Amino acid sequence: MKQITVSVPVPLRGRFDYEVPDALANALPPGVRVRVPFGRRELVGLVIEPWRDAPAPDFAIRPIAAVIDDTPLVPSELLALCQWAADYYQHPLGEVLATALPGPFRRGEFVIPKPPDGLALTAAGHAALATLPARSGALRSLLHALVDGPRQAAAARAALPKAGAAALRKALDAGWVARVDCDDVSPLETPLALTDEQRGVLDTLLAARDGFSATVLEGVTGSGKTEVYLQLAEAVLRDGGQVLVLAPEIGLTPQLAARFTARFGDGVASFHSGLSEAERARHWLAARDGRARIVVGTRSAVFVPMARLKLVIVDEEHDVSYKQQDGLRYGARDVAVLRARRLGVPVLLGSATPSLETLHNADGGRYRRVQLLRRVHQHAPPRIHLLDVRHAPLHDGLSETMVDAVARQLASGHQALLFLNRRGYAPVLLCHDCGHVLPCPNCDARLVMHRAKQRLACHHCGHVEALPPACPDCGGKLVPVGQGTERIEDALRLRFPEYRIERFDSDRLRSATALNALLADVQRGAVHLLVGTQVLAKGHDFAGLAFAGLIDVDQALFGSDFRALERMGQMVTQVAGRVGRAGQPGEVLLQTHQPEHPLLRLLVEQGYAAFAARLMDERRQFDLPPFSSLALLRVEAKTEGEAMAFLRSVRRDCPAAREVDILGPAPATMARRAGFQRAQLLLKSPSRAALHRMLASWMPTLEALGQKTRLRWSLDVDPADLF
Ligand code: ADP
Ligand code: ZN
Repeated sequence: MKQITVSVPVPLRGRFDYEVPDALANALPPGVRVRVPFGRRELVGLVIEPWRDAPAPDFAIRPIAAVIDDTPLVPSELLALCQWAADYYQHPLGEVLATALPGPFRRGEFVIPKPPDGLALTAAGHAALATLPARSGALRSLLHALVDGPRQAAAARAALPKAGAAALRKALDAGWVARVDCDDVSPLETPLALTDEQRGVLDTLLAARDGFSATVLEGVTGSGKTEVYLQLAEAVLRDGGQVLVLAPEIGLTPQLAARFTARFGDGVASFHSGLSEAERARHWLAARDGRARIVVGTRSAVFVPMARLKLVIVDEEHDVSYKQQDGLRYGARDVAVLRARRLGVPVLLGSATPSLETLHNADGGRYRRVQLLRRVHQHAPPRIHLLDVRHAPLHDGLSETMVDAVARQLASGHQALLFLNRRGYAPVLLCHDCGHVLPCPNCDARLVMHRAKQRLACHHCGHVEALPPACPDCGGKLVPVGQGTERIEDALRLRFPEYRIERFDSDRLRSATALNALLADVQRGAVHLLVGTQVLAKGHDFAGLAFAGLIDVDQALFGSDFRALERMGQMVTQVAGRVGRAGQPGEVLLQTHQPEHPLLRLLVEQGYAAFAARLMDERRQFDLPPFSSLALLRVEAKTEGEAMAFLRSVRRDCPAAREVDILGPAPATMARRAGFQRAQLLLKSPSRAALHRMLASWMPTLEALGQKTRLRWSLDVDPADLF
């Protein structure tokens, strides 16, 4: 009897075999989608092995219901990569494929052929542009982008990812924009003349274009890493290859995609969650078939199939956003390196602050290391000055020295930035009469006060409630303690009413479009003072920024996670790197109550590389990554007893494995979250291979136990944090 093995999107491991009629067998190579009965449902599955002749098994084997594709949708390279990810992350293959495939393909649909690829402004559009209100930002930018003539749709929309689709629909419906066939792409920008440093780096990379190699490009902010990416990509494209470029944040993809489009014209496909499903599916196909020569995207783009992939670039490789925190908990940087290795092509990891994992690989000779130590535009990155605020009066968390420095910068016409990685008005609301602190009803956490919205919010579970007028316990007066970005913004507004102040955090900027609109204002110099969270620490280029003030990084010095200090060092360096890029020297002040802290001193006096080297020694001493491999089994249950009991029984059934330490079970650092009690078991080994052998043999037991309970559990291989 002819049988095939199909992957279906269900949270179960194991093989799912179906019977195929003789006549159909040859039409079912791996990568073709089929409809199959599964329980009482019918699911879209993917053939993962060629058909075979086998005796009928002793259980009932069901026939496939229908064949969807004439030719394989999923190329074998992607299938193999997903299989690898399923094994490595101990995740069911069906769910890995569901992560890798755009929605329409998961549902068994085809995508509609691409409409004409150009956009043109109509006469009505010209008229509308004059009267559109300022708040229709995305629409305005779209129309503006077409004022000088028709453009490739991709290029016109590169600057507005999310509302791009919505704005375009609106503009098409209103008749302001028409689809046209458009060959005339705007003139292509020519490559810049490289600095000697860039030249040296590029030559090294060009010489390593054959076969797999991983190179870390360590380049201070403003050293022109992007230009190196562009010229390296150019060489690859000239040879007919394709290039995959990953960026950590959806907010950063439009800029990056725009730079590639400006240089290479059409053939640049973006891939991120801001696109519509249909767009993503079309870009996916264009990349698969080699029509898109460059794919620029966020972490999920690492699974976009590319027929002639010859170069992988991971920008800001240290960024934690590359790690997915639910479902398939993959690290896109790591998958990118593996994919390059499998394909035998080079991978380039760029960052001003490489992760310890990557530095460790470079130290061990597994990765090549190249550096850009100088900024393209003269000035060295500014020194960071520690501002000792012990005994200094703080108003809304700001010292007078800090406020004076901001005043000076603003008075000389410069832009300034204040960084605080905490949203909201105040992290704690305290009753001045009885000392009561308002807790989250679902978590071991305090509610954060949001003044503008007049409410309290939990930043862990999303619980919100109205801001009470008085203490719910005693009726006393509630006072906000500590500060978030909203409070800093308010304080600065009072102090600097004549300047435009904008807050950058995820409360204020819900979409990449909103962020990009605001960033455009910053570029024009229309915003004077920026207050924000890590949104501001990422790769954005602020040409006029002369000052950065870091308000409170002390908490990171005592963070309970083993990566807290690494993150702090990266954040501080990245924020400081935004300053003084276009000519003027800059100034960076860091307020602290710990001016003697040895690691903080090391960071500001000798820079990130020395700081990272010291952290590396500590990691080695305590056998922490990158000197060991970790896997974390997390469990959530109604009671702590249940969670711990499950982990204890799991641990009992754990196969004995040399070289693997099992730590726990123990309650998680935040034991209660979103109404669940959380506990975890940590597996640690000096040998990645030993850990993986053990996980593979343990998984069946774990899954069987897991299915018998109603607990929620997940296994996180290479966890980004241990919370
Ligand atoms: P990084 O990504 O390393 O922070 P960018 O690639 O954004 O730096 O470059 C910083 C600025 O320098 C950009 O405005 C870029 O256009 C400019 N730049 C880069 N290389 C050169 C060059 N060789 N000549 C002139 N300007 C350059
Ligand atoms: Zn909560």
